[in-house]
Amino acid sequence: MGHPATIDGNVSQVSETRPGAPGRFSSEAQRSRRTLRFMAITRQQALDAFQSDDLIGLGMEADALRRRLHPEGVVTYIIDRNINYTNFCTEYCTFCAFYRPLKGKLAAEGYILDFDTIYEKIRETVELGGTGVLMQGGLHPDLKIDWFERLLRGIKERFPQIWLHCFSASEILAIAEYSELSVRDTIIRLRDAGLDSIPGGGAEILDDVVRHKIARLKCGTEDWLHVHRTAHQLGMRTTATMMFGVGETFDQRINHFEQVRRLQEETGGFTAFIPWSFQPGNTALGGRKWDEATSVEYLKVLAIARLYLDNIENVQASWVTQGLKVLQMGLRFGGNDVGSVMLEENVVKAAGTSNCTTEEELRHIIRDAGFKPVQRDTLYRTMFLN
Ligand code: SF4
Repeated sequence: MGHPATIDGNVSQVSETRPGAPGRFSSEAQRSRRTLRFMAITRQQALDAFQSDDLIGLGMEADALRRRLHPEGVVTYIIDRNINYTNFCTEYCTFCAFYRPLKGKLAAEGYILDFDTIYEKIRETVELGGTGVLMQGGLHPDLKIDWFERLLRGIKERFPQIWLHCFSASEILAIAEYSELSVRDTIIRLRDAGLDSIPGGGAEILDDVVRHKIARLKCGTEDWLHVHRTAHQLGMRTTATMMFGVGETFDQRINHFEQVRRLQEETGGFTAFIPWSFQPGNTALGGRKWDEATSVEYLKVLAIARLYLDNIENVQASWVTQGLKVLQMGLRFGGNDVGSVMLEENVVKAAGTSNCTTEEELRHIIRDAGFKPVQRDTLYRTMFLN
């Protein structure tokens, strides 16, 4: 895929990170950091911030760092579509309202999308100005590497321009296991079939004590890191996410930040950090009368993430889980991106949360918060003159 002209010169920054490029990534954040001598906050400072009532002071600190990393006053968004190719899953995560088991009464509600349906969704995405697809699904033992290779090749043959940001770490681990391949060989085969980058889903909280409580069958912290490290080593970019508000301690949240920061220090392969709060509706965990994270808690996590992960260039504020008004606040608490004008979203909707928006509304929200809205692609390249 060629590199269209940019308004901010980010192309040269990304050109060294094309899939297949060997070696360590060098992001704008890392270069700025070296120039401006940023100092990430310490564990103790992060803990103090979580325990502090000074929300505004914390927001101002995160905003100051956001301004140093993104001095041009731009807030970005992408037009893409989430496609969930199957809701069958073997992992039974307690926080998930989306999956259906392979057997039993609820299996009747399960689906696997056929390729033509997926192509049709992508055709609509392209027609609506979408540049990428975020494709994820449950873990299904019948879906092995050849199914994914055929799908990716079929998409790229029909829509060579569409960026495929697909398959979270737990899916890649499952494809590897079901296909009796190493993680490395699995990623290479997916990449060669058309996979462009990997989303950060499945991270939840990167602390095995928490993971064991909420998702006993799902991959552990080291497994998640291994997939992302391997992808980075193979020249692919990925994102890092965090789902908080599942009963974790502040220390465990900081453990998550620390794992992500260390891997970024090692490889530089993360393009963005994306935190969101657990949506308890229709989930087993929510049924245990969980208190959903408040807006204040969300803004604190966003701001502390911005300050702790000073080596990751982009921090995304979420409207899907927080709504548009908290999103606007998030842009003054360290967020420099608002994610997607989503043409389809099923996972959060399954938990009963259904905020929705349009490109026009998102642009208005961004402008009203004092920033210039600019469309980006999946690698955060702002290539659109708007
Ligand atoms: S979160 Fe993912 S892995 Fe866990 S049950 Fe839901 S679909 Fe399966």
